[in-house]
Amino acid sequence: MEISRRIAKSRPLATTAMHGRVDAMKDRGEHVIDFSIAISHFPAPPAVLAAMHEALQRPALPYTAVGGDAGVRARLAARVGRENGIDAAPADILVTNGAKQALYQALYVMADPGDAVIIFKPYWPAYVATSELLGLKPILVDLPSQITTELLDSLPPARILILNNPHNPTGALLAATELACIAAWLRKTGTRAIVDESYEKLVFDGVHQSLAARPDWRELGVVTLFSASQSYAMMGWRAGFAVAPAPLVAAMETVQGPITAAAPMLIQLALAAAFESDDTPESKAMLADYRARRDLVLDLTANLPWLTVRTPASGPYLWLDVAPLGLDTVAASEQLLAEHAVAVMPGDALGVPGYLRIGFIADDVATLRRGVQAIIAFGNQRHGGR
Ligand code: PMP
Repeated sequence: MEISRRIAKSRPLATTAMHGRVDAMKDRGEHVIDFSIAISHFPAPPAVLAAMHEALQRPALPYTAVGGDAGVRARLAARVGRENGIDAAPADILVTNGAKQALYQALYVMADPGDAVIIFKPYWPAYVATSELLGLKPILVDLPSQITTELLDSLPPARILILNNPHNPTGALLAATELACIAAWLRKTGTRAIVDESYEKLVFDGVHQSLAARPDWRELGVVTLFSASQSYAMMGWRAGFAVAPAPLVAAMETVQGPITAAAPMLIQLALAAAFESDDTPESKAMLADYRARRDLVLDLTANLPWLTVRTPASGPYLWLDVAPLGLDTVAASEQLLAEHAVAVMPGDALGVPGYLRIGFIADDVATLRRGVQAIIAFGNQRHGGR
């Protein structure tokens, strides 16, 4: 079958491809421990389930306006005002089928083919894949331990800077001083920013602050992406939204209209309920569970001569530096899957070979422990053999 030239050169996302392989193996009855992406073992918040119950009693669930139901947009605008300090009106909110759709549409309306987009690596693969689908030029820059004016001034000219705060996979949070440097640089250079804050509620240490929590966020052209997937354990619900200056939201609606039209009404109601369910006993229990898992893996992997891992301040991942093993990390991931039935994400898929990323929030703790022990046995064997 002939495939368009436009898509023929593109490949599926490495992350979803690996997860798809694992699912296919499970469908064949094989037992696989899946650390390749982060899928929560928690259900959606009770408020979401209650909202769904109520919504299903409604006489109808109509199409809504493309950007979202007016009531849902008003609730989300109030939520980001309250929780994130972002002064947003309902017209600045666009409800989407997850952050991925919002990212695609934001890049679509903020840049033209050939325009440069700065992406720090390691990166979430969708930043690069989506930029490439749209004919944009990703410029990959090593993520520094701290973003400074000096670093920003050394960057090549670009239309857009993509930031991930909190950061997948390192768990790093942007500090107030970094956000101030970034805002000043955006103003000075006219570069626009897309800030993906999908992990905002998975913070163990420190405080998450939004770049858009400043009165001039619209002028600076900051687009903030939110997702229910990780912060509210709602991966399969496909629920997210963007906060963008109203004219950008209108342009994003023009892209979205012919593709998906509005997000499903039911999911919009779930999204609003999720983002209003912060600081509940359930959300605290989820965070405590994730923290205990993070600490367990850090304990298990401490003092290995071939592995270094920083304690992530946030998020469902550990970013393992296994460079001392001197392995091809793509091949090592394949061997881990074939020989130990453990799926991990090679750092290569996130732009940095020599690392393995593991998502630690799926399944039960005994399975997590078994999977990590298999990785340790694998590394010990390779290390001993050198
Ligand atoms: N942004 C980043 C950086 C992520 O890692 C993820 C989850 N993998 C998401 C966003 C969630 O995207 P979506 O809302 O489309 O599920």
